Amino acid sequence: MTTPTIENVVIIGSGPAGYTAAIYAARANLKPFMFEGYQAGGLPGGQLMTTTEVENFPGFPEGITGPQLMDRMKAQAIRWGAELVTEDVTFVDFSQRPFVIRSDEREVKAHSVVIATGATAKRLGLPCEQQFWSRGISACAICDGATPIFRSAELAVVGGGDSAAEESIYLTKYGSHVHMLVRSEKMRASKAMQDRVLNNPKITLHWNTDILDVFGEADHMKGVKIKDTKTGEESELHVKGLFYAIGHTPNTSLFKGQLDLDDVGYIVTKHGSVETSVEGVFTAGDVQDHEFRQAITAAGTGCMSAMLAERWLSAHNLIQEFHQTDSEKPAEEPAAKKTEAEQETEFSVERTRHEGGYALRKLYHDSDRLIVVKYASPQCGPCHTLKPILNKVVDEFDGKIHYIEIDIEQDPEIAEAAGVVGTPTIQFFKDKDKVAEMKGVKPKSQYRETIASYL
Ligand SMILES: Cc1cc2nc3c(=O)[nH]c(=O)nc-3n(C[C@H](O)[C@H](O)[C@H](O)COP(=O)(O)OP(=O)(O)OC[C@H]3O[C@@H](n4cnc5c(N)ncnc54)[C@H](O)[C@@H]3O)c2cc1C
Repeated sequence: MTTPTIENVVIIGSGPAGYTAAIYAARANLKPFMFEGYQAGGLPGGQLMTTTEVENFPGFPEGITGPQLMDRMKAQAIRWGAELVTEDVTFVDFSQRPFVIRSDEREVKAHSVVIATGATAKRLGLPCEQQFWSRGISACAICDGATPIFRSAELAVVGGGDSAAEESIYLTKYGSHVHMLVRSEKMRASKAMQDRVLNNPKITLHWNTDILDVFGEADHMKGVKIKDTKTGEESELHVKGLFYAIGHTPNTSLFKGQLDLDDVGYIVTKHGSVETSVEGVFTAGDVQDHEFRQAITAAGTGCMSAMLAERWLSAHNLIQEFHQTDSEKPAEEPAAKKTEAEQETEFSVERTRHEGGYALRKLYHDSDRLIVVKYASPQCGPCHTLKPILNKVVDEFDGKIHYIEIDIEQDPEIAEAAGVVGTPTIQFFKDKDKVAEMKGVKPKSQYRETIASYL
């Protein structure tokens, strides 16, 4: 599908940089069009969707969780008229004007572009990494730490920076002990983070440690083979989970040959600015910043990008202004979670949507429809991402399926009985049999096809 109009500004990426650019551009009546991203370079909402408390973003003296902060930024961008689609950009052409930006579902033309595609977590490339990915290995402690297989188990975190320190501390809430595997003899984490790790009796630091591989049985990892780089001694660490926190790569493969990139792949900007090598293309956040990499610096450069885009459009007489009407309202707050007693009172077998263990037990025994069960946890960023995607698919099958949401923090015993090892997980039941399972966030079409095949 091609959008017939030419957009004032297209924003690629929905982390703090992208949303701030959207807020500023929308406030300037530019009605920015944003590709939030989907899977190519992290989650919609960006890296903060994988963290717990953000304690250094100005304006939140009590702290705020990463997903909450990003939900608020998104609501603010929508409030002022930004148009958002949850799609990955797969192609850009900055050699022609207006610029061309394409996803799998649409092509958009724009006079100016803000690139805010951030950075992606690195992998180790271990021989058995693929076999045990999501079966013990995880790149997101915040998403997967609460799952039953990790509870009261020994766990390991690889990395020596702030992320590794934060994830190790977070995992002590669930695991019996956390081993932090650091490659050199010192950590890169901030002094404050180092102190918190070193003073935590549930964390053991392993200095000068390389990971050689992971091992286990067919369906679950049981340990990590490590090597002391000073003595050369190899040993096994018996842990049920290995969490990666080893840094990021800028998401710029899309822009190779279109913009100047440095040796690592970061977008090169003009000194002290957010202008790229192509006039009218601006960039913000971690995709152009290998030094600060913070939410506030990403937001700051997002603001600069939108303001420079507005000036550039104005200077070239290209602005088309949009004004909001009074009827356009901010997004609604999500409803509070229901108790088991409330679920029982409100339960009706006729309804498509349900929440909690009561509905699952009732429908598992009584329903002749396909039952779709989503296991999620409140702080899991990918679960936030999946919500609107799955909601649309569930609407398409209204009255034909039963859809149940299980909060694994509230109902851990249900998740354990179901063998859930990470969130989000979707299980499909028909006539008391589990007929399919999907982990993580998949394209809408995969959920649709799976459901249709069992109707
Ligand atoms: C565990 C953890 C904890 C952190 N804690 C803090 C903290 O407490 N305070 C702090 O200030 N910073 C913190 N940070 C750092 C902070 O998250 C980043 O600096 C910030 O998120 C960078 O924002 P960004 O907008 O540049 O990019 P990102 O947050 O990386 O977002 C990039 C966006 O681009 C999208 N995208 C990528 N490719 C495409 C594509 N092809 N098409 C469309 N969209 C695409 C992604 O989906 C995503 O929405 C933390 C980071 C981590 C990993």
